[in-house]
Amino acid sequence: MKPNTMKALEKSKPQEGLWMVQAPVPEVAPDEVLIRINKTGICGTDIHIWNWDDWAAHTVPYPMITGHEFAGTIVEIGRDVTGLEIGQRCSGEGHLISSDSRQSRAGKFHLDPGTRGIGVNEQGAFAEYLKLPAFNVIPLPDDIPDEIGAILDPLGNAVHTALSFDLLGEDVLITGAGPIGIMAAAVARHAGARNVVITDINPDRLKLAQHVAPTVRAVDVTTEDLYDVISELGMAQGFDVGLEMSGSQIALDQMIESLVMGGKIALLGIPPGRSPVDWSRIVFKAITIKGVYGREMFETWYKMIAMLQNGLDVSRVITHQFDVDDFTKGFAAMKSGQSGKVVLNWT
Ligand code: ZN
Repeated sequence: MKPNTMKALEKSKPQEGLWMVQAPVPEVAPDEVLIRINKTGICGTDIHIWNWDDWAAHTVPYPMITGHEFAGTIVEIGRDVTGLEIGQRCSGEGHLISSDSRQSRAGKFHLDPGTRGIGVNEQGAFAEYLKLPAFNVIPLPDDIPDEIGAILDPLGNAVHTALSFDLLGEDVLITGAGPIGIMAAAVARHAGARNVVITDINPDRLKLAQHVAPTVRAVDVTTEDLYDVISELGMAQGFDVGLEMSGSQIALDQMIESLVMGGKIALLGIPPGRSPVDWSRIVFKAITIKGVYGREMFETWYKMIAMLQNGLDVSRVITHQFDVDDFTKGFAAMKSGQSGKVVLNWT
């Protein structure tokens, strides 16, 4: 039986922190399902909302139940929903789209300009129950556990970025060893790249990268010269593909310099503001740059689940799991800069 109220982690007032509240259990519309949340992942976005920085204050209305990375079980189905069943374990795409934009009508749902995010613009997943359009539901196969289901959203960012360009036989540079960069390194390896190098300036993150993806070369650019690594690995000119995950100007400059002529860059990292770019280098090196946002709906989800079923292992990127009543410990672990993915258990 569905209760009337539920535990939820909410931004209740415009100041630092999140608060555990009792909120009404959402009513589902005819095209929606109700999901009992089992596990959730804490994202950098949730930290911005916790901190109530400028971005959060300008973007997020309150009260707002935060969170968008989740795995759960369908417990109720709207009357128009077909193809889903009560009891189905699932994750889901947290970007809610409209169906009337040019992009949506062309089947490029992830490029819909009217996208709204759960946990940011709409009530989110840090709760015992979440309502979601059936369209956004991703059923989880039995061999994908809930803790992996809870990190498919950021894994999807990694997969979308890594699969932006053909990686088979290529030498790949990833700048930024946060959880998404680390998972992108594992994906690049799985997708058949020859050399995969990941850089950062935080030794803990590089250690985690090596732990999650042992065949990836982790480089601390404060102590090691990237060009030494390029010659040590026997690359003739440099990297074929760069995946920028840090938002750091220095990292992007280093990436542009260490790319081959005709190299390609996928950008997921968000610079803190406007940043100077040496465009002439990009022109003369004939570099292709692609901005990456979210996940392709739903090709990224399809590929990522297929890869997980075919040997891709990112489980070690989850470094902490807490009961949701200990959520403050989870957020503290995230803020320490020493964690990978932090998962909260809701059951
Ligand atoms: Zn996220």
